[in-house]
Amino acid sequence: FERIQVPEQSKDELDQMGQTFNRMIELLEENYKKQQQFVSDASHELRTPLTVIESYTSLLKRWGKAKPELLEEAVEAIYEESGRMKGLTEQMLALAIGRNDQPTKLSEFELGKLVHDIAKRLEQTFNRKIHVNVNEHYFISADEAQIKQLIFILLENGLKYSDDSLSVDIVDEDREIRLDVRDKGIGIPENDLPYVFERFFRVDKARSRQTGGSGLGLAIAKSIIQAHSGEITVRSLENIGTTFTVILPKGNKSAKGRIMLESKR
Ligand code: ADP
Repeated sequence: FERIQVPEQSKDELDQMGQTFNRMIELLEENYKKQQQFVSDASHELRTPLTVIESYTSLLKRWGKAKPELLEEAVEAIYEESGRMKGLTEQMLALAIGRNDQPTKLSEFELGKLVHDIAKRLEQTFNRKIHVNVNEHYFISADEAQIKQLIFILLENGLKYSDDSLSVDIVDEDREIRLDVRDKGIGIPENDLPYVFERFFRVDKARSRQTGGSGLGLAIAKSIIQAHSGEITVRSLENIGTTFTVILPKGNKSAKGRIMLESKR
C-alpha cells in the first residue's frame, strides 16, 4: 500500500479545526453545567418557602378548628412565604428573558427623571432618604422598563444593606453616562466581591432572607447591563459602604441647564 501524505498546511488546518471543536465542546459543557446549577439552586430556593407553607397548612388541617390563635399565625406565614415565592419566580423569569441579550423595546428617555421617580417611591416604602444628584438632562437610548428594574435593584439593595442615607450621582462621561449608587452600609467582604453578580449568591444567607433577598437581583442587573452594552462595577469596604457604578451609552438628544434633583419627603 502507498501511504497517503497529508500536506503540512492541511495538518495545521486540521489541528486548528480540532482545537476550535474542542473549545466548542468545552463551552457547551460549561453552559450545560451552569444550567444544571441554576435548576438545582432554583429548586432549593423555592423549596424553602414551600416547606413553610406545607407545614403550616398541615398544622391548620389538624388544629385549625381547635386553636383559633394558630389561624392568624399560619395565614400570616403562608401569605408571606407565597409572596416570597411569587417574587422569586418573577425574578427567575426576568433572568430567563434577559438571556436573549438584547434590550427588547428601545426608546429615548431621561435618566435623571426615571431615577428621581424610583427614588421617591422607595423613600416612601422604606421611610428613608435618597439624594439624587443630576447636573443636566441626560437622555439615554435603552429599554426603559429594564433600566427601571436595574435602578430599582441597586437602590433597594442600598437601602436594605445600610441604615444611613443613600446617594445617586449621574455624571456625563463624554459619550457615556455614569451612575453611582453609594451607600454607607455594611459593605461586602473583599472575598465575596467577585461573586455578588452570580445568581443566588448572598453574602449572608440568613440576613438576606430576613430582608427578603433572593440573591437574584444583581444577576438580573448584570444581564440588563450586558444587553445594553454597558458596564457595572462594584467597590466596597466592610462597615464603610458600597458603591455600584453603571456606565450606559448616551442617547442623541441632550439638553443644557443645570438642575439639582433632591428627593425630599
Ligand atoms: P439579594 O436579593 O439577596 O439582595 P442581590 O443579587 O441583589 O441579592 O445581591 C447579592 C448579595 O450581595 C446580597 O445578598 C448582599 O449580601 C450583597 N449586596 C448587594 N448589594 C449590597 C449593598 N449595597 N451593600 C452590601 N451588600 C450588598
